[in-house]
This record gives sequence, C-alpha cells and structure tokens, in this order.
Amino acid sequence: MDIFSKVIGNNHMLNILKEFARLENRCYLENAGTSLYPKCLLESVNKDLLCNVYSNPHSDKYTKDCIDQIRSTILNFFNTDSSMYSVIFTSGTTQSLKLVVESFQFASDENKDVNGSFVYLQDNHTSVIGLREIAAEKNADIIHISHNDFLEAIYNSNSIINKNTKASKSNSNNLLAYPAQSNFNGYKYPISCTEKIKAGCLNSHVKKHLCTLNCNWYVLLDAASFLSTNKLDLSSEQPDFICLSFYKIFGFPTGLGALLVKNSSAHVLSQKKYFGGGTVDIVLSSENYNVKREIIYERFEDGTVSFLSIIALKHCFDAVNKLVPKIISNNVMDTISWHTYLLAKDLYDQLDQIYHRNGFKAVKFYMDSDFTDIEKQGAIVTFSIVRQDETHIGYAEFQHMAELFNIIVRTGCFCNSGACQRHLNATNKEMKDMYAAGHKCGDEIDLINGRATGAIRVSFGYYNTFHDVDRLIEMINQCFIKTKIMKPIRLKHYYEKMQEKKYIKENHKNLIHKEQILKKNDAVDDICSFDSDITLREIAIFPVKSCAAFKIKSSWTIGDKGFEYDREWMIVKDNGVCLTQKQNTRMCLIRPSIDLKQRQLLLNCKGMPSISLPLDVSTVKKANTSFCQSKVCADIILGYDCGDEVADWVSNALEVSFLRMVRQSSDGLRVHKKKHNGKNKLLSLGNQAQFLLINQATIRWLSDKIEDPNFSHNLEDLTDRFRGNIMIEMDEELVERDWSKVIIGKHKFKVDGQCSRCQMVCIDQNTGEKTIEPLRTISEEFAGKLRFGIYLTYIGTVDGSKDRLLNINSPVRPIINDDNISRSMK
Ligand SMILES: *Cc1c(COP(=O)(O)O)cnc(C)c1O
Repeated sequence: MDIFSKVIGNNHMLNILKEFARLENRCYLENAGTSLYPKCLLESVNKDLLCNVYSNPHSDKYTKDCIDQIRSTILNFFNTDSSMYSVIFTSGTTQSLKLVVESFQFASDENKDVNGSFVYLQDNHTSVIGLREIAAEKNADIIHISHNDFLEAIYNSNSIINKNTKASKSNSNNLLAYPAQSNFNGYKYPISCTEKIKAGCLNSHVKKHLCTLNCNWYVLLDAASFLSTNKLDLSSEQPDFICLSFYKIFGFPTGLGALLVKNSSAHVLSQKKYFGGGTVDIVLSSENYNVKREIIYERFEDGTVSFLSIIALKHCFDAVNKLVPKIISNNVMDTISWHTYLLAKDLYDQLDQIYHRNGFKAVKFYMDSDFTDIEKQGAIVTFSIVRQDETHIGYAEFQHMAELFNIIVRTGCFCNSGACQRHLNATNKEMKDMYAAGHKCGDEIDLINGRATGAIRVSFGYYNTFHDVDRLIEMINQCFIKTKIMKPIRLKHYYEKMQEKKYIKENHKNLIHKEQILKKNDAVDDICSFDSDITLREIAIFPVKSCAAFKIKSSWTIGDKGFEYDREWMIVKDNGVCLTQKQNTRMCLIRPSIDLKQRQLLLNCKGMPSISLPLDVSTVKKANTSFCQSKVCADIILGYDCGDEVADWVSNALEVSFLRMVRQSSDGLRVHKKKHNGKNKLLSLGNQAQFLLINQATIRWLSDKIEDPNFSHNLEDLTDRFRGNIMIEMDEELVERDWSKVIIGKHKFKVDGQCSRCQMVCIDQNTGEKTIEPLRTISEEFAGKLRFGIYLTYIGTVDGSKDRLLNINSPVRPIINDDNISRSMK
C-alpha cells in the first residue's frame, strides 16, 4: 500500500484528510501563503461562540480573562511563560514589525544625538524592507546586509567585540531584522545566534564611528514563515522581538497576529507615539498629557483587540493537537516539521532527477540548501523549469498549466525581492530595466528577453501527502518533459528508523527514466481549399460572456464596443462576481443565439427547454444594480438584472445555486483601464479588447504541431477553443503577429497587440472537458510566450461612410507597420 507520509501513519493521515474534504480534487501546495483550517476547527469555534457570551474585554472581565488565558497558551506553545515574554496582539506580522520599529529607541539614553542602526538582511520579506522608511525618519542609519555576509558573520566570525553583552544606557541601540525562515525558498536562518549578535558579530557592518562605543544589539525575528511548519523554542533561544501571523500556522483566524517581546528588552520600545483606547492610565483631552499603561501589552494594544478571533485561537491549538499525533519529540509542531520537510525533500529529489531527452536537466533550483539538514531547510521548494534548449518556461505559463491540473502553487517573487533578485542573478540595474520593460510585482510578465522574472514556489502543510508530490511531478512531466517517469517507491520509514540512516538513499534508485517517444499524428488533411487572397471566413459573437459562440452566417453590425451584442450579458454569482468558464467549464454548453427579427436573445442548453430574453428593454425597467467583475478586469460595471426566470434557468443549466443573469447597461459603458493615445476605448464585458482575430492558417499549423495522440480534434473544434470574433483564411501562418492595422471590406481596425492565451484554450467548447493541449504545444512553440491571435480596435470605414455592417467573405488587407508614418504625419 502507498504511504502518505514517512512520519504520520496512514490512519492518522486519513483522519486529517477528512478535515479537508472540501478541497475535493484540488491539490493545495501553497501552505506558505496560508495554512488551511480543518473543518473541526470551525465547528468548535462556532459552538463556543454560539454557546457563550463574549463582549468587549474593556468592560467584560470574563472575556478579558479568557484572552489572558490564551496569552499564556501562546507562551506555552513557545515553551516559555509570562515571566520571560509578553504577548501583544496585533493584526499580523506586518503590524507587529511596524510596532517594533515605530517604538524602538535608536538613540542612547544619555546622548540623544548618538543614533544606532537599523540593520536588515536583504532577503527579507517586503514587510521588513519597508521598515527602513520608519527607521530613517527616526535618524537611524540604514544598513542592508547580504545573505552571504550575514551567514559569514554568524557562522565564521570570531572577532567578537563587545565583551560585556549587557545592554548599557550610554550606548546607542542597533536593531537587526531577519527571518527565521525565508518565505522565498524555505531556507532557515540560524535562530541560535542572538547571543553572538548581542556580542557584536555584526559590528563591522555598521559605521565605525557609531560603534566606537559599544553598541547594544537587539534582534527582531520575523517568524511568520518559519512558524507555519516549525516549533520555536524560546526556552533555548531568546530573540528580543518575534513577529507572527496566526493564519500562517492554523489557516484561521485571519487579521490576528502577535508581537512577542522579551520582558527584559521591553524598555527599548520607549518611543511609541500614538495611544488608542485602552493603552493609557490617564489622558487629558485638552492638554498634551498622558501616561501610558505599565503592562506591556496594555500599552501596545491600541483600541479593542480582535477578541472573538483570540477566542477562536484557543480552538486552533486544540485542533492541531487533536489531529496531528505527537510522533517526534512528543511534540505536534516537530511532527509537522518532519512530515512536511520529508515531502519537500522528496519533491526536491525527484525534480533533481528530471531530464529532457537530450540529457539536460529540466529543473533549475533557487535554493540555499540541498535538503540534507532540517535545521537549515523548511518545507518549501522553489525552482523554475527549463526546456531542452535551456530557455526558461515562464512562471505565469507554469501557473496556467498547474491550474489546469487543479494544482495550486505560488509563482512570482513572493514579496521577497531580495532573495528573488539574488537567485535570478539580476543586478539592481537589470531589475529596474525589467520594470522599465513593463514587469511589475505580481503581474504575468514572466519572461523578459528570455530571462525569468520570478520563480515557482511549492510549499507543504500537515494536510499534504506524497500523493500531492506525485501529482505535481506527473503534471510537470506531462506538460514539459514528456518522458516517462516511474513512480517512486516509498518505504514506510518511521521517524526512529529514519534517524539511524538520516537520509534515505533508496528513493533515488527507484527513479528510472524511460523515454517514450510519442508517435507523431498523421498530418491533418487540408479541409479548406483557399485562394492566395485573405478573406474573412467567419464571425462569431459571444452574447453571454464565457458561454458558447453564436456564429454569424452572412454579416453583423459593428457597435461602439465591438460587435453588437457581443458579451453584453453575463452570469454572476450570489456575491456579485462574474462567473467565467475557467471556474465553470459547463458554461460553454449554454448556447446563446440572437434573433434580430423577433428581437430576442435565445438561450439553449442540451436537455432543457430554451428560454428567451427581449433585446430591447425600456429604460424604466432597468433597475441599476452595480456588481463587480472577475479579478482579471476588476472594474465595476453597471448592469441590470434580467429577472428571476432566466436566473433559475442558468442556475439549473450550470447546476450552481443562486446565479443571476445581468445585462450591461448601455449608460454604464465599460472603459478599458489603460488609456489609449489619450482616448479611452469602449469595451463590452469581453476581457481585454473589442475584437480577437484568429488566422486559420495558424490554427492548422498548430494542429500539425500537436503530437499528443490522446488529443483528438478537428480544425473547427480547435479554432473554437480560441474564442475569436473574426476568423480569417490565408496561406501563411503566424504572419498576423506583425500586422499593425487591418482593413476588412471597408472597415479599418487597429491592432492592439497579441492575445496572451490563458488556459481557456484547454476547454473543449463542445463538451466543457479540460485537456492539456493545445496549451502545452503553444507554450513549447512560442518559447514561453503564450500568444495566439491578435486584438483589434475599430477605427472606422475607409470611405468615411456610416455603414457598420461587416460581411463574411470580405477581402482582408493587412498593413504592416505603418505606425511611424501615420504618427509623423499628425
Ligand atoms: C507572510 C510573511 C510576512 C507578512 O505577514 P502578514 O501576515 O502579511 O503580515 C512577513 N514575513 C514573512 C517571512 C512572511 O512569510
């Protein structure tokens, strides 16, 4: 029998998996973004809140006592108590970090002009890097220190300057900020170096004159990433300040974090300016007089703490204790730590063994450890995939493929530009150049001049198993490698057994790589006979966004926003968010058509009676409802609801409750976000442009390239997947990418760029079924740029007439690059 984990037995694991049954077929590998909450946790929180009365702890002693009780539970979790540390509740890691630097006294007590330094590791989370702005305002010296210099100073320096590590009032105060674990790749920085830092091992990095006197060092530990799968033992190591967010450990509640302050270092947080409700002993509203509270957390918790979330926290500790057996060191977090580490190590080892047919490695790691020591590595693997010819596969492309397989990973730079930059080997100038070339944090521009702008991060939680590792490997294999990989045989190693050997070598031996040459499909017959002239072959509109196409037989009118009635209706969920085919592939089974004679929109769906809606609606009937669209285009659109009858019809057709049908209101026109030559162009509910033009020669060419024997298709079906509006027929493939304008019949269009196809093309428009092709082939052929089809905006008729009818079989005349001429003429 397969094993789920090398640490947690199968029965326990099955119990855990039951708690996450809502994942269904999804494979969640983004634990570093947030852990997931088990079902039983919410059940017990609900029960508690439903049975008890909790009210504002400023007035309710019972609630206040419960909260204080939870403070000691937290301290206990970190193996310490209130004599050593204080718990300050915050909204999360970021607020905790800010609180420390805002309150930190960099100057010495005796000489206010002697300011200390704010020293930070470059590979910190953005929330730490941003602290330098606060520190600079307080006249601290701002010093960044590289990954290598930091480790060198911690591990190798023996030049310890401060003999006396006791803080002295005559010295200035330095604050060092670093992560216990990198959120970029899971590298664990040493925690056991507080004493060394206090003893001055980083003194050579701060300006000499500032450390002529001894300086006091304080350690600000960003434990957000570390704590999600590791135990922090504060009985053995005592950083001065520790920041954390609880959702990263338990998945719930959000908006709650803590700052742990070592009591003996609390005095240095003397510069807190703001005071909110509950933090002062006395305040005069008409005179600048206040005395802050004595108890540390009372002084720092401005306003009312998130008391119901804190109550929920108690159940978080209980839930993991109940679910996860204490196999290692009789501790739940240590067990989670080993369980997740061994999953990540397994993935790392397998990825390391993936080769292309030409013998080149397919995976480039962005790691700082090789999974030989759990003290140095957490449960995260960060990498990118490289093709046979050593070009990179962009992360956005990888993400699209992963989504197709229902695998959730994180891609990009994960809010850690320092680590990202170091691993991508980019200079500051190159980073700025990438920005200048259009790449911003969090966007989809994953490659610039063939260079990766980010990475793929896979991270594990206690609810993950080896099945998840296998699914990811299988997906990478199917999409990017296409050689056959044997499933590794994992021996049932429990922790005790494993410790003897420490590292499991057998795993590697079981990876045998067999090549499987896929047979090339017989070339697809040319179906269409065509002239050398380019003609408009087909017009399609999509009256209901994300539903099936309505193909036009002879001609159609060009409106202000594209073709008339194209994407004029949309289906929204009960939360007002637009439903798309990406979430619900059945949408393509709804077949709308427009009957201009009867003036109605008809909706058809197999197995259901059809339903009709009038095309013309009196303005009186339109009650404006505002709703938001999908995330891709986050703008708010004004529309009106089409009534209960059709709402029920679409809910039945898609088998989703509470759907509504909304029509874009003509007075609430949607304008494309990006300004275009100072002018805004009008768009319907289509995502990016007014028209999408597809060259059928390019589709034929693509069809020839697809090697997958499981992907049976005819040209028409393949064309349909691209959901274009204007299909043209010509001899040459791919040439349309160089066009700058197109004249069709007497209508002139401007090219607005290429369509970056997402995984929508992998949905068979006849059946709603998801396939890997043709995305895999597109990604292979275009070296990471998923571009297929061109976007058009309507300019007007060539002869200036008001005729807006576009006819099928019109001749098509492309214009290549006349941009410069027309611009200079203006
Ligand atoms: C997640 C994370 C943060 C930020 O946490 P928030 O909950 O967003 O405030 C900071 N540092 C690291 C290392 C993290 O992983």
